[in-house]
Amino acid sequence: MHLKTLTVRGFKSFASATTFQFEPGVTAVVGPNGSGKSNVVDALAWVMGEQGAKTLRGGKMEDVIFAGTSGRPPLGRAQVSLTIDNTDGALPIEYTEVTISRTLFRSGGSEYAINGATCRLLDIQELLSDSGLGRQMHVIVGQGQLDAVLHATGEERRGFIEEAAGILKHRRRKEKTVRKLEAMQANLTRLTDLTGEIR
Ligand code: ATP
Repeated sequence: MHLKTLTVRGFKSFASATTFQFEPGVTAVVGPNGSGKSNVVDALAWVMGEQGAKTLRGGKMEDVIFAGTSGRPPLGRAQVSLTIDNTDGALPIEYTEVTISRTLFRSGGSEYAINGATCRLLDIQELLSDSGLGRQMHVIVGQGQLDAVLHATGEERRGFIEEAAGILKHRRRKEKTVRKLEAMQANLTRLTDLTGEIR
């Protein structure tokens, strides 16, 4: 599995559609200070489902949308698509090439898609989590983040390992199911009360 292309449009400093092509192996992005190198990494994290505005170096999620320059007005939406080569089947989906996309509208709405079909954020997170590209984004190590890993508590460190091992997905599913069961139990209790009152 390797990243093939990344297309950004209206994302941070990339007002016009810009496509980056990656080959297997190491890719280096070079450029002057403030030219948008880190924005490329932010786009990768964002399309893979990152939900933390701070992780993306902004105050709120809307900050990822091109805010305009002296010569160009702000845009109404940010869109990022990432195409992943899946010939080795690392992603649990029957396609040799997978494109995940994320769009955020300034009006607030957002959309996610896998190979052009609209999906939920959860679908993207689950698709990626077995490959190590999990929702906690431990595959992207930002400036200063190494310190955070070195100073992590035991529990946080276990979280990193669980994410890497693909266990976290099952833990989250279990938590969701337990919440559903609790809601169901509350409904049953209410039903028992009602039938008791009717009798
Ligand atoms: P350095 O080498 O200093 O780390 P860099 O090449 O990594 O810099 P980035 O941090 O990726 O640069 O990009 C910063 C630039 O992106 C700034 O000029 C900033 O104004 C611009 N930028 C960030 N968010 C937006 C936005 N929403 N709209 C327009 N421009 C933005």
